[in-house]
Amino acid sequence: MTRNPLPLASVPSPTYLKCMSKHAFSHVSTWVFDLDHTLYPPSARLFDLIEVRMTAYVMQALGVDQHEADRLRALYWRTHGTTLAGLMREHDVDPGPYLTVVHDISMDSLTPDPALAAAIRALPGRRIVYTNGCAPYAERVIAARGLDGIFDAVYGVEHADFLPKPDHAAFSKVFAKDGVDTRRAAMFEDDVRNLAAPHAMGMRTVHVAPEPVAHDHIEFHTDDLSGFLRSIT
Ligand SMILES: [Mg+2]
Repeated sequence: MTRNPLPLASVPSPTYLKCMSKHAFSHVSTWVFDLDHTLYPPSARLFDLIEVRMTAYVMQALGVDQHEADRLRALYWRTHGTTLAGLMREHDVDPGPYLTVVHDISMDSLTPDPALAAAIRALPGRRIVYTNGCAPYAERVIAARGLDGIFDAVYGVEHADFLPKPDHAAFSKVFAKDGVDTRRAAMFEDDVRNLAAPHAMGMRTVHVAPEPVAHDHIEFHTDDLSGFLRSIT
């Protein structure tokens, strides 16, 4: 676990870091988790399956070849946040069928994670999931990871009128719906972009990823979510 950015002159001892991070989360009463690559590791490669279906959907919906579909997906991810947001804004694509089709994948690569389940269950306060996927897909992932019954609410892109993270307004909609007091909340995310709005809203921000990235809006990094949560509770 590291605090970003670390002061160059003095690297805190692990014990000091642990006390510091415990204190840094003592005011938190709502714990918000992203889903993909946060509640399961990237090594599960679930997103590979979704991406194949996204590309196929773009090809079919827009009548383009695979090369053009991949180019558009990369472009929309950069300019609109997600493939879906680009499809909706630029091509008036209906989000409902898209979300159902692209998330209709096998969960075989996911395994239950009892350590993560225990660590999340031990968090004091409200625990929610907020994903750019759709809530029914999130529920399937949560079940496959053995995390069912742990979260108080699960929100997908449909709960923000299909406006995706990292858009500030998307976070505002979901947090208003749930009644999150962002000054007493923490956000756990693998996508660096999706921690900017939470940080601006006064949330504690934790980047969950194999490698740390130094950024003003990232307060903590971990490559071991279970271990991090245990260290702050
Ligand atoms: Mg993610």
